[in-house]
Amino acid sequence: MKVHNAEIVISAVSPKQYPETDLPEIALAGRSNVGKSSFINTLIARKNLARTSSKPGKTQTLNFYLIENILHFVDVPGYGYAKVSKTERAKWGQMIETYLTQREQLRAVVSLVDMRHEPSQEDIQMYQFLKYYDLPVIVVATKADKIPRGKWNKHESVIKKALDFDKSDTFIIFSSVTKEGKDEAWAAIEAAIK
Ligand code: GDP
Repeated sequence: MKVHNAEIVISAVSPKQYPETDLPEIALAGRSNVGKSSFINTLIARKNLARTSSKPGKTQTLNFYLIENILHFVDVPGYGYAKVSKTERAKWGQMIETYLTQREQLRAVVSLVDMRHEPSQEDIQMYQFLKYYDLPVIVVATKADKIPRGKWNKHESVIKKALDFDKSDTFIIFSSVTKEGKDEAWAAIEAAIK
């Protein structure tokens, strides 16, 4: 998909703030610094609609982006940021859980993991949580440009094994630097919202 229109519609913390439309939604989740903003910006070919930052964990809201008037991307705040308090973390968990388990428009979750490393406990928990609720997942392994191509298969197997990857889900090797995986990511998203 070639995107001409993308805009943020709302930063929400509770269901009453979610946009009142029937448009399908694709949520995006991953630990801070995994490359989620870069992924969103690559898909919509913008430099900076979703803010990229080296300071992790700042957004604690669900950010709804309207894409071409046909779907919403829902940017879920990054997990795994050690500096937030227990109370903040609990609030964060509740907000995300409510959205992921109750939003009827939600069609699939893009779960981003850093391709260089084994998935963290939080990556694994997130994936298992999504599977428990039968949500289709598109696993996006980011920063592929940092790994030699000859090692991609190995890294993919390690990640799939750690997640106990469900074969009905989609796995995409991605780089916002080389745009590797951009077309596959759009294809998976378009299939999910059909
Ligand atoms: P977020 O916190 O998940 O939104 O992550 P960002 O998109 O802000 O990216 C975090 C850092 O990783 C930034 O310094 C990005 O430039 C870098 N980064 C993101 N994606 C890639 C990628 O595909 N390749 C490389 N080499 N660096 C990336």
